[in-house]
Amino acid sequence: MAGRIEEADVLVLGAGIVGVSIATHLQMRGRQTILVDRGGPGEGTSFGNAGLIQREAVFPHLFPRDLGELLRYALNLKTEAHYSATMLPHLLGPFLRYWYHSETGRYLAISRDYARLIAHCVEDHLALAKLAGAEDILRPGGWTMAHRDQRSFARTLKEAEAARREFGVDYDVWCGNELAAAEPHLAPGLAGGLHWTQPVAVLDPHALTLAYTAYFKSLGGRIERGDARRLQRGGPGWEVADETAMFRGRDAVVALGAWSTEVTKPLGYDPPMFVKRGYHMHYRPDGNAGLNHPVFDVSHGYMLAPMRRGIRLTTGAEFAHRDAPPTPVQLARVEPLARGLMPDLGRRLDPEPWLGSRPCTPDMLPIIGPAPGQGGLWFGFGHGHQGLTLGPTTGRMLAAMMTGEEPFTDPAAFRPDRF
Ligand SMILES: Cc1cc2nc3c(=O)[nH]c(=O)nc-3n(C[C@H](O)[C@H](O)[C@H](O)COP(=O)(O)OP(=O)(O)OC[C@H]3O[C@@H](n4cnc5c(N)ncnc54)[C@H](O)[C@@H]3O)c2cc1C
Repeated sequence: MAGRIEEADVLVLGAGIVGVSIATHLQMRGRQTILVDRGGPGEGTSFGNAGLIQREAVFPHLFPRDLGELLRYALNLKTEAHYSATMLPHLLGPFLRYWYHSETGRYLAISRDYARLIAHCVEDHLALAKLAGAEDILRPGGWTMAHRDQRSFARTLKEAEAARREFGVDYDVWCGNELAAAEPHLAPGLAGGLHWTQPVAVLDPHALTLAYTAYFKSLGGRIERGDARRLQRGGPGWEVADETAMFRGRDAVVALGAWSTEVTKPLGYDPPMFVKRGYHMHYRPDGNAGLNHPVFDVSHGYMLAPMRRGIRLTTGAEFAHRDAPPTPVQLARVEPLARGLMPDLGRRLDPEPWLGSRPCTPDMLPIIGPAPGQGGLWFGFGHGHQGLTLGPTTGRMLAAMMTGEEPFTDPAAFRPDRF
């Protein structure tokens, strides 16, 4: 039987950027909130991402439908994605659904729903960062897609134009010389750059989650260690207990990123989620070399992001079991390419590559709203490639739904019972 008993209005399970943002928005609305994590805040996937608050990401990452493209992925010829054959039986179901939702018409409808969240990401982060005194961790000014060849440059421009026309995203187009002037430490001879102007770069994603957590605590919020898999009905609504403590709330929120279904499955909710794992490594550039903005290598699908610790290289998607041992094949493949793109990238700073898991849904939309058939239980997970981007926006939306406010946009597309 647990010793200490802590009660609150809401238990938020998971202290990644999404859970911390939800808890903060609840606490800001006067709901006494306990944030429960088995580790420290921001130590999951939120720790190691590329740090982009992606105002431009109105088109979520789709499943390739072009046959040649599919074949290159199937043969593991593309550096931006990698899978192991042993994963195929597990991936078949979610992949078929992912492929289905990537059909042009369905994908456009999904993008329109997604864009209604993405449109608020920068303002929601800036508002929270201001309250948390964390503005110095944010660097407005956008990020750049560097192109090695004219063909891919032309393709990106076409997609960017569509995004600008329909969704109000903005960008500058740089020819090779303009790209070289903006980023003088990139190799010469690149075809050009598309520079998204509205996104904001985070110089230390872990520090940002910690700053939001500190603000949550300053409002009276509590943070506790505990295992969310122990969630059960009890007390005023829901409780999580071990031998030493019991945490109780009238409501509970599952915001456990890639671990969410470990808690929802026993409660009867089993969405077809999968993970896209990704790695990072930091580098200390030689001499006075550096980057002025994060730079994405369009040909090879990795990002170089200037951060407090150094240049952070983040890889694309690895389709593997979430808990399988790290296999940083992609990092090994893109590192020489990155040294080609930025010759003074310098030496590695981390003893081992960091590994994280993007929590993905086959319809590319996060799961936000009331749990089906479970009064007082709410979900906020499945943000895939844009969990950092959408943390505060999700927090604002879910906290509004939970406190009877009108959410800023119709949440129906994100409702859990669509699966
Ligand atoms: C290489 C890479 C680059 C990325 N780049 C970007 C980017 O530039 N921009 C962007 O927007 N997104 C990016 N992402 C995606 C983004 O990082 C994730 O979508 C986001 O971090 C998910 O946040 P979360 O709070 O849902 O999950 P997490 O940060 O994973 O948090 C989940 C929390 O749950 C806790 N937990 C798990 N199980 C239990 C349990 N049983 N009991 C208690 N606690 C538990 C964990 O300890 C963890 O703290 C990237 C991801 C990767 C891998």
